[in-house]
Amino acid sequence: MNNKKQVRVRFAPSPTGELHIGGLKTALTNYLFAKKNDGKFILRIEDTDQSRLVEGATERVIESLMWAGIEIDEGVKIEKREIVEIGEKGSYVQSKRLDFYKKYIQQLIDEGKAYYCFCSSERLDDLRKKQQLEKLAPKYDRHCLNLSSEEVQKKIESGEKYVVRFKIPEGKVSYTDLVYGKIEVENDTLDDLILMKSDGFPTYHLAMAVDDHLMEISHVFRGAEWLPSTPKHILLYEAFGWEPPKFCHMANILNKSKKKLSKREGSVSVSDFKNQGYPKEAILNFIALLGWNPKTKQEIFSMDELIREFESADDVEKNRGFRKMNKAGGVFDLDRLAWISREHIKQMDVKDLYEQVIPFLEEKDFYQNSSLLSNFSDEQKKDYVKKVLTVEKERMEKFTEAGENNLFFFSEIGNVDKDLLRWKENSDEETKKALEKAQKVLGEISEEDWTKENLEKLLLEAAGEKRGDLLFPLRGVLTGAKKSPSPFECAWVLGKIESLRRIGRGIESFG
Ligand code: GLU
Repeated sequence: MNNKKQVRVRFAPSPTGELHIGGLKTALTNYLFAKKNDGKFILRIEDTDQSRLVEGATERVIESLMWAGIEIDEGVKIEKREIVEIGEKGSYVQSKRLDFYKKYIQQLIDEGKAYYCFCSSERLDDLRKKQQLEKLAPKYDRHCLNLSSEEVQKKIESGEKYVVRFKIPEGKVSYTDLVYGKIEVENDTLDDLILMKSDGFPTYHLAMAVDDHLMEISHVFRGAEWLPSTPKHILLYEAFGWEPPKFCHMANILNKSKKKLSKREGSVSVSDFKNQGYPKEAILNFIALLGWNPKTKQEIFSMDELIREFESADDVEKNRGFRKMNKAGGVFDLDRLAWISREHIKQMDVKDLYEQVIPFLEEKDFYQNSSLLSNFSDEQKKDYVKKVLTVEKERMEKFTEAGENNLFFFSEIGNVDKDLLRWKENSDEETKKALEKAQKVLGEISEEDWTKENLEKLLLEAAGEKRGDLLFPLRGVLTGAKKSPSPFECAWVLGKIESLRRIGRGIESFG
């Protein structure tokens, strides 16, 4: 075996709708392996099932991949908002490759490895029902296998509908899956699969095998739902006399009841997660860990770290498979995604976080109509939001949350309930005194010295042993909220003028 062959992998979606989390997992695995091995990541569009096509789906799938940071080296891409094809293997859209498929189907027919089948769907239904009654596995009974070429010719000329079937040979088929190990199947358990449908289009099975060969695909990463079909694909390769790619099936993503995750369980499309404001790094990290175990304690990964930890083609060759990929599926647990997401946001640079958050924030009424920001220049607004994010990023799960839990940063807070200002059993007089003290301390800090660290230091010094006496009412007047970041952080974001205004109003409320 020549393991120095260039690694060429493909993601081959059918354009039937949005890219789902499972599809992104497949694309990501292909991508990580390509990058690990200086290989090529190819995007091929598998649109031979014309009845399932959805307008615009190809664009949406590519956009989701681009958003996630998965770069396409070859195949179908979007450049300057146009779909383009890059590469030297002809078109990468299967519906534009029909001549290739016809040629190879004809080759199999000529060699007696495939045959025309004219059976009506009624006959096939009856056959299936009979087999069910007899508790037999459904299988085509080769009714049309021995039609003479004259009979075939006559039927075709008289306009009878037909398909072309692969004649499964006798014997056994075996291959080594890079996750599931050695797979061996008796050929007589396999059905004579259809290679060409009555609409003249090839089936997925034929088109995939031909294309993986012509596009020189070295490794096929795909969902475990294709595991039962793979022996048939290997037989097809054998029939053509081609070396099959190496197959690596990935365990399906499971829901909390350990069943395959499905669309019925709410949002599973990549664009939904994007629109909910999850960072792409978090989504990639989360799905990378489903069914993959890096075998270290690390749980938070950037794309570069995922590439670094991924097994190379040489590792896989040496170990006869992937050691870090599991046969059992990973559970899609949104609580885990939330945790991973918070960790990524914590690590983000405020400048980057700002860029990610701003499109969501600009949609929000509290931001658009903020009384506090109404007189700010664009630059001042930007600085202000960055301060809010500096404070919020320690606890943020999604970009959509920015500002949501701390509306007092954007709007007036009105009169604050005295109960929110009273520390323990303190009297009104004591509370008022505390606020006056805070007013004095903050009033003496110049605008230049108005940093989070200074505010914390000076207020803690002023509070002495009894922190709550000073800090509790101060936090209350600044925020008017039961929960908020610390008073130092809030005063820092609000700035000197607004903080003193709020303190002054609080003092006044005590008469
Ligand atoms: N078009 C197939 C799908 O969307 C690809 C399967 C494969 O990777 O072979 O599931």
